[in-house]
Amino acid sequence: MKLGTKFIHAGVAPDPSTGAIMTPIFQTSTYVQEAPGVHKGYEYARTQNPTRAALQDALAAAENGNYGLCFGSGLAATDAILKLLNPGDEVIASNDLYGGTYRIFTKVFERYGIKFHFTAMQDANSITPLITDRTRLVWVETPTNPLLNIIDIAAVSRISQNHNLLLCVDNTFASPYLQNPLDLGADIVVHSATKYLGGHSDVVHGAIIVKEEAIAQQLAFIQNSCGAVPGPQDCFLVLRGLKTLHVRMQRHCENGEKIAHFLRNHNKVDKVYWAGFTDHPNHHVAKEQMRGFGGMMSFTLKDDSIEAAHKVLSGTHYFSLAESLGGVESLIGHPASMTHASIPREERVKNGLVDSLIRLSVGIEDVEDLIDDLTQAIG
Ligand SMILES: *Cc1c(COP(=O)(O)O)cnc(C)c1O
Repeated sequence: MKLGTKFIHAGVAPDPSTGAIMTPIFQTSTYVQEAPGVHKGYEYARTQNPTRAALQDALAAAENGNYGLCFGSGLAATDAILKLLNPGDEVIASNDLYGGTYRIFTKVFERYGIKFHFTAMQDANSITPLITDRTRLVWVETPTNPLLNIIDIAAVSRISQNHNLLLCVDNTFASPYLQNPLDLGADIVVHSATKYLGGHSDVVHGAIIVKEEAIAQQLAFIQNSCGAVPGPQDCFLVLRGLKTLHVRMQRHCENGEKIAHFLRNHNKVDKVYWAGFTDHPNHHVAKEQMRGFGGMMSFTLKDDSIEAAHKVLSGTHYFSLAESLGGVESLIGHPASMTHASIPREERVKNGLVDSLIRLSVGIEDVEDLIDDLTQAIG
């Protein structure tokens, strides 16, 4: 089965009781048993729900994994993965992480005795000196946010496997349409389904996909024991989103490419960060491990001031000023005053997050309108 067919058909079947082609929203907390212990595989809805089961199977297929597990948010999924660890264990993570992931690592799990090391994994070899006999997990996000760095998943996986480490890849930015980390050697894929998988900015949801039964069982135990499960309505929305993922992503990629080039040719724009440019430092890796370059990008202004950035941010009409990404509508954001505001300015600027850095989540509107919008906002 090819990708698009899989997104539409895998994991779902007409409802046996009615023939409904769409998986029903099983809004129930429990299931009636015929006799004590005699049931249809469903006992209590924290443990199993048929709407969630259909989505979990669909997502497993979408990522070429064998098991899917859904959670109430992307961070709830991350939380479950970290609970595979024990106090004293160590994690090596890429240093340009989603802010919420950095926060749960350093502000929550560090308190439980887990140690985190951060490194610029664009050079996969930067992991090796950080490996100790307590290292258990390597955590990769690629492309990164907001500078669109690319990390070579296969290269990181070779190092992880040599040292018996679990490799987890946050595949939120690429989505399973553009990149399948399990095929490149990762053990665990995590998604904020809030973004491209849901795709319509109407649900908060998270998912984990794995190949190995043993890891799936541990994660299912944590999912049920800790209980951060999504409701069936939210599962329905993500299942519906998944069916159009390939069509949306094609348009995100087309629009993204045109806007990246438009920005690069604009005389008020300084740098444009987008992995589709042939002079992007890891373009060759992106080309190898991704099927396209997506609609996420960021750029800086020649007038590198908060004021100049704010003028652009408040001047757009179709690009809405908001956090999040991956919906059909275009969004614009300012890392320095929004997603990365908690990082001290000096450290922020040192890492390339200068005052005028603006991030775009390019939507699937008509690209001419989006370019007109940016043209008048940048001035
Ligand atoms: C949004 C996001 C998350 C967190 O997901 P939530 O659904 O908001 O909890 C994790 N990783 C990345 C890359 C994200 O963009």
